[in-house]
Amino acid sequence: MKKDQGKKRIELVCSVAELATLFERTTSITGILDQTVKLIAQHMGTDVCSIYLLETGTRRLFLRATVGLDSGSIGTVQLRLGEGVTGTALKEMRPIIVPSLSDSLYNKPFPGIGEENYEAFLAVPLIYQMKRIGVITLQHSKPNFFDNRDARAMTAIASQLATLIENAKLLMELHSGEVPHSGEDQAHVLPEFIKGNARSEGIAIGSAYRFADRGGDSFFFDPSRHYGQGFDAFTSSIEKTKNQIEQLQQSVEENLSDAGGLIFSSHLLMLTDEAFSGEMAKRIRHGTQTHSAVAEVVNMYIDLFKGSENEIVAEKVQDLKDLGHRILENLLPKEEAEYDYSGHIIIAQEVFPSELIRLTAQNAEGLILQSRGVTSHILILAKSLDMPIITLDSDTLLSVPDRTPLVLDAFQGTVFINPRREVLNHYRHYLITKQQAVKEGEAVKESTYLKSGEEVHIYANVSLLSDVRLAKEYKAKGIGLYRSEFPFLIRNSFPSEEEQCRIYSKLLSSSAPLPVVMRVLDLGGDKKLTYEEVIDEPNPFLGLRGIRFALKNVEILRTQIRAMLAAGVQNGVSYPVHILVPFVSSLDEVLEVKSIISQCITSLRKEGIQCAQEPKVGIMVELPSAVFIIDELVQVVDFISIGTNDLVQYIIGVDRTNAQVADYYMPMHPSVLRSIQLVASAARRHGLPVSVCGESAADPILAQLFIGMGIEQLSVAPKSIPRLKRCIERFSMKEAQDFAQKALKAGTIRELKEILN
Ligand code: PEP
Ligand code: MG
Repeated sequence: MKKDQGKKRIELVCSVAELATLFERTTSITGILDQTVKLIAQHMGTDVCSIYLLETGTRRLFLRATVGLDSGSIGTVQLRLGEGVTGTALKEMRPIIVPSLSDSLYNKPFPGIGEENYEAFLAVPLIYQMKRIGVITLQHSKPNFFDNRDARAMTAIASQLATLIENAKLLMELHSGEVPHSGEDQAHVLPEFIKGNARSEGIAIGSAYRFADRGGDSFFFDPSRHYGQGFDAFTSSIEKTKNQIEQLQQSVEENLSDAGGLIFSSHLLMLTDEAFSGEMAKRIRHGTQTHSAVAEVVNMYIDLFKGSENEIVAEKVQDLKDLGHRILENLLPKEEAEYDYSGHIIIAQEVFPSELIRLTAQNAEGLILQSRGVTSHILILAKSLDMPIITLDSDTLLSVPDRTPLVLDAFQGTVFINPRREVLNHYRHYLITKQQAVKEGEAVKESTYLKSGEEVHIYANVSLLSDVRLAKEYKAKGIGLYRSEFPFLIRNSFPSEEEQCRIYSKLLSSSAPLPVVMRVLDLGGDKKLTYEEVIDEPNPFLGLRGIRFALKNVEILRTQIRAMLAAGVQNGVSYPVHILVPFVSSLDEVLEVKSIISQCITSLRKEGIQCAQEPKVGIMVELPSAVFIIDELVQVVDFISIGTNDLVQYIIGVDRTNAQVADYYMPMHPSVLRSIQLVASAARRHGLPVSVCGESAADPILAQLFIGMGIEQLSVAPKSIPRLKRCIERFSMKEAQDFAQKALKAGTIRELKEILN
């Protein structure tokens, strides 16, 4: 075998993943490209590594970064498409190896940049979504230095780098030099873009709309606008506002019947309150200008609510401003009015779940939040509502003037401020293409089989009833996880048994004939109710979470279980009921819950209420303690669901919501994989169905590992189903098993990363 001459291809592939994080740390775009060429040259043992990028306007390739060539040539050396090895590789979209440049047809070294010293040449095109974006070139003084394996490794790297570089390239065309970064002191000058964390995927284009600090801020009218004046204009505005809010409420109830319960009720109450609209009317009658009267009363209420310790009252500040805004807009001619958040990207320190629903109902385009104000439930809800979210550590954007144009790339985590035309065009094009793709519908097969013929069951994770539609459209085999928290989180008090029963009934009947796994209320950690007496826990993630909270508040648990059981029989039709117990840490907890379920069945029967008689009971494995007693647990339950989101958090001891330690949050950590293997084997030995329902089930590589470990069910967000199904069809059971065996033997994270890559 030919010697590898110091090439470390595998290490390079591994390091590329780390390169992606450079985009977050580096303060300039050129910095990203410089780091990339250095890393490649070092790992491939080459003298030269360069990146050329194709300029969109001139269709010419410009040298943008290099190690080994004269750095003065950056930005000046340019090639036509098809010119030289580099131009040809891009034109023909294939890697080209030239063993010895001096003997080659391509021989056209650039004078004065030092190219003539190098013989061997490898050029690999950078292609992003079938679009030519640039070329990576490697050069070495020794002839025949590169072979096909190098070309293959570099092609793999180029495809990984393409997204990163496409972003860098776009920005590079916008800025001629350095670009400030979020971490820098930017008290007065706003950066052109800011890098944050993408937390709910999507793209949004709009203008900035800042939310008040909790309990603070005032409400203003716009003095440049001509509001209608007088009592008649005011009453007509109140009438229009009332109609609009009632319509909004109705549409939310139709689309989000579980979560949307009276979400605009406080608006409607305020609107008809004598002390609110009545006070406005009084002031107008006494000669105050209409818009001033509206603003004065809104501000009077804001002052009242200001500084309240009570989160529910604090929440009302935004409701008030919302309402004041609508009343003012309704004083304007129709063509001038802006009633809702269409065309706006909201910037806030935090939002409540109910606010998120209101924002979605009022067409907000996207959301920028402070990292510390984000909870896992807001993110889960945002994904269900298809609301793009980026979180930021710095508060630079909190001072951005309202109406500043923004673009939110919540795939990459970038916020563009006052974006240039090229950026806008790029993202508008993306949105148009996406709409077309949605219209055409994703062709999804009914069942999913491995290359070798075994079936893998893909289920959907559902947070809102509205998710069921997509789950069915993407042909999920069932609802693998219904997170029952949302109706609790969004309301101002615990939903009653009847209210819950109505929600679960709708869930079961709208999902039928698909089976549904309903999870018992999983509160605690960062999933907090605003109306529950706040228990101040020093370590909420290690506190009254999941089933611990439910067993401490057993009446809440009983009510929920009764509602779930009763939903199992509707108008004489039975639906299978699966109850899932979250955050199990002992056998005792499971036995206690099972006994409560039996008691609930007995009491419902006694009361003459029809209900499911033999519900299936399963547990979530999310804690190391559950992994080590899995052999006992499998004997008392009907199914197992592995919640990797929390399992990773508790096995590695790393907060799943803390961006500071995101690098430690590794679903492919050896301990996590071995735990999953233990659970999967125990379940198989007992003939129990076992699924993975954490986010990592949607990762094609991890999914392959899980399947190789014997897991036949994966439950993922509906949006992830089509891609997951496509990926699964590409490998055989034997390949998955070999892959899993290899991964399970790896001791270091590094080794594992190499295997996974
Ligand atoms: C999990 O922990 O993997 C899970 C699915 O539950 P949640 O994300 O709701 O905590
Ligand atoms: Mg969990």
